[in-house]
Amino acid sequence: MLQVKNLSFAYRDKKVLNNISFRLQPGQQLSVIGESGSGKSTLLKIIYGLLQPEQGSIHWNDKKLLGPEFNLVPGEEFIKYQAQDYDLMPPLTVAQNVGKFLSNFYPRKKKQRIEELLELVDMSDFADRRPDELSGGQQQRVALARVLAREPELLLLDEPFSNIDNFKKSALRRQLFEYLKDKGIACIVATHDNADSLSFSDEALVMKNGRIIHRGNPRELYLSPQTRYVARLFGEVNQLPVSWFIEDRKGLVLIYPHELFLNPEGKIKAIVEENYFEGHSYLVKARIGRRLVYFRNDNPLNKQFAIGLTLKDGVLEHRLKPQP
Ligand code: ADP
Ligand code: MG
Repeated sequence: MLQVKNLSFAYRDKKVLNNISFRLQPGQQLSVIGESGSGKSTLLKIIYGLLQPEQGSIHWNDKKLLGPEFNLVPGEEFIKYQAQDYDLMPPLTVAQNVGKFLSNFYPRKKKQRIEELLELVDMSDFADRRPDELSGGQQQRVALARVLAREPELLLLDEPFSNIDNFKKSALRRQLFEYLKDKGIACIVATHDNADSLSFSDEALVMKNGRIIHRGNPRELYLSPQTRYVARLFGEVNQLPVSWFIEDRKGLVLIYPHELFLNPEGKIKAIVEENYFEGHSYLVKARIGRRLVYFRNDNPLNKQFAIGLTLKDGVLEHRLKPQP
């Protein structure tokens, strides 16, 4: 089990992490989400041992992990880390890069393992190429294969799919996380891609300004976001007066665009302003007095059209705290 306790860190006098504590069980998948600059990468670097925390401690089971001030070679045998910039060795081929950490003692086994890993990241056809002949996304896939080569107990991934095109991303993501679950490898993934978190992690930590501001099951964070900041990490969101849905009730409520429906009888009257094609549907921007509202619709709507909207059943139950 990974145990991070009261971790704080500053770059010179700029405080970047503030009293971070959490635990991660073996084989569990944790995502760290938060806006750019919130401290995700710094947190991973400290856990891996690249940066010395100012305060706090990190344990893996009973072993205390020491920072670079006490450990000349960063990193521990059982942890692997993939940085946002993946440092592949230019003179080596793809296959050699992947096999770099593997023992030469059993050459056949090593070759098999490299093939298995290249298959996992869909790079088998590139085994004999060199990194400078590859696109950014291809390099990122090789880097992923490399950190998996010697099965770590804990894997730290920093934006692992950021350069991989959508075409490859979905399949690779499914394969990778299935592989980790299968092998019982615990993983922390720093990400701003909500699918990493929503579809594949057991738990999510939400970071803002170097602090953990929420944590929980990603599905629950999505369905009952406690702040607009959290909901925004998952996509577009409206913040609307509760009184639009329940008379005389004060406050604001977060509503995702797919939770509002076009309905001529709907109580919410709006004027269409713009349509944005999103593939499976349109995101429609409409105006209600001074407020803008976003909702999804299968077809684009005429601009300046007066429309009615209703809310999907059951949404408010997730969003509103019971009144005393
Ligand atoms: P994230 O990965 O969430 O985008 P980072 O951990 O990279 O956030 O950065 C957190 C904060 O630390 C940011 O404000 C960033 O500007 C600052 N920072 C990151 N690296 C350095 C550095 N080497 N020196 C000084 N400040 C840094
Ligand atoms: Mg980062």
